[in-house]
Amino acid sequence: MSPIAAIVTEVAEEMREVGSRGAVADYIPPLAQVPLDKFGLAVVMADGAVHVAGDADEPFSIQSISKVFALTLALGAVGDQLWERVGREPSGSAFNSIVQLETEHGIPRNPFINAGAIVVTDVLLGRLEPREAIGQLLRFVRELAGDDTIAIDEVVAAAESATGFRNRALANYMRAFGNVRGEVERVLGTYFHFCALTMSCRQLALAGRYLMNGGRSDGHRVISEKRARRINALMMSCGHYDNSGDFAYRIGLPGKSGVGGGILAVAPGIASMAVWSPGLNESGNSQLGQMALERLVQRTGWSVFEPRAG
Ligand code: GLU
Repeated sequence: MSPIAAIVTEVAEEMREVGSRGAVADYIPPLAQVPLDKFGLAVVMADGAVHVAGDADEPFSIQSISKVFALTLALGAVGDQLWERVGREPSGSAFNSIVQLETEHGIPRNPFINAGAIVVTDVLLGRLEPREAIGQLLRFVRELAGDDTIAIDEVVAAAESATGFRNRALANYMRAFGNVRGEVERVLGTYFHFCALTMSCRQLALAGRYLMNGGRSDGHRVISEKRARRINALMMSCGHYDNSGDFAYRIGLPGKSGVGGGILAVAPGIASMAVWSPGLNESGNSQLGQMALERLVQRTGWSVFEPRAG
């Protein structure tokens, strides 16, 4: 067994012993029903080797991790013009907070909080119908992961819509500022479908290869090197809501979490990894997921702040 494979197995085994696992998101039944004892870990190395442990092949709701893929598509569609409508600063507040929008004139702090992702969705809908935008995102992640079985869970999308009062408030508020331009229900219907993407740790880690490899995935260029670097920078500074500073401190990798309990993290040039444990901490990030990544990084030295030779 390679040293990395051994570490992946070891970390997953250690997670079985942890008593305090946080709480599963309970705002919609499909998430509330996920058993707290699930745990999966997948690591894809730059040389293509894949190491998995636990429930790494079980699909789960990736929720806000989809914001990374939606951002990538929006940058592809409109380039840096996107930054006229969305900021690039950590918010320091909850994923669904509305407070900053008033003083900041409807411009969300970053593309990884809900308000920002709603604007990103609106940008994609500037050129596409909702059905096309949803299809585009699905095709994109399938291509990135090399796996056509990845799907959108319509039950989750419907539940998001049925309970999406805050997201409706955010979208309407930004519409009042002119920063959501399309019809609010069309934008939200699309956003809810993005949140309802279902992927396994293995699929997610494979999909993250373009961020590990300077924009290339499986030998193909997906985005420029510069853009990959910048998306990683945003994931590092804004990928974990008001927990982003702590994630950078403890793990030191670009990462993006979702309330389904998944985290995608990238060690540029080294590995793309995904972890899943549905129990969340108070900021809505996977409690064991963060702990597992912290241990993985301590043992591998993959933090981007680790001094490297040369
Ligand atoms: N569907 C959730 C929402 O929009 C996503 C939250 C998340 O994963 O951060 O409220």
